[in-house]
Amino acid sequence: MPSISKRILGAIALAVTIPLSLSACGGGDSGGSAASGDKEKIAIGIKFDQPGLGLKNPDGTYSGFDVDVATFVAEQLGFTPDKIEWKEAVSAQRENLIDNNQVDYIVATYSITDERKKRVDFAGPYLVTGQSLLVQANNTDITSKDSLAGKILCSVKGSTPAQKIKDEFPTVQLQEYPNYSACVEALKTGKVAAVTTDEVILAGYAAQSPGAFKLVGGTFSEENYGIGLKKGDTELLNKINDALKKMEADGAWAAAFEKNLGPAGVATPAPPAIAATN
Ligand code: GLU
Repeated sequence: MPSISKRILGAIALAVTIPLSLSACGGGDSGGSAASGDKEKIAIGIKFDQPGLGLKNPDGTYSGFDVDVATFVAEQLGFTPDKIEWKEAVSAQRENLIDNNQVDYIVATYSITDERKKRVDFAGPYLVTGQSLLVQANNTDITSKDSLAGKILCSVKGSTPAQKIKDEFPTVQLQEYPNYSACVEALKTGKVAAVTTDEVILAGYAAQSPGAFKLVGGTFSEENYGIGLKKGDTELLNKINDALKKMEADGAWAAAFEKNLGPAGVATPAPPAIAATN
């Protein structure tokens, strides 16, 4: 039966060649992980409208604590700043951007939550903050989360603060905007009574318009910011965690915090411990 053994040989040859040919076309930007180092450029999701954290400046440059963290991590992965492609990651789109391979990772005030962990993995945490309230400077009737009943509040679609208001403050009239700068505009013109999100974000907006706004009520949640990445890419996750540990240990983390959030009046905290898994 020479034809059968020929067929077997043919099948073996196929089994050997298929994986080879697959790996031959797997390189480049279309596939593969940023951890493997075979990509020309790295795509990173950040916020474009959050001063002190992730901001696209009028001259086309990017600045903020998240931008500095993302840049440090990219450098540790072998990508110099000119090899970074910045993409806007609004709150509601973050999981989609990762799922659809439009970004390699996201550094965008992105809280680690059990719900999000069903779709993405998180490195970090690299910053701990909490939900707070921003009101007009002359406001006297909102002093804390306990004075929100019946008030019109603005937050952002797909964010944890919006979810918390829906879950725990049923009498609040919540308006969900696509991003926080739109909320701050609505606060300026009096369309909403307060904006709610993380304290560091609100501090950035308050510093941008001196005398216009104030933060009230302290914090009433714990938000652990993680770097979001493709679910199951353990190699990239470990490399990002190593980069974060290095950034925290060598003082670059504190320097970046001071530079970006110091002017907004946020004291530089001790950096959080990087978890092996989140
Ligand atoms: N940290 C919160 C979150 O991830 C609020 C900030 C944001 O929407 O980016 O949902």
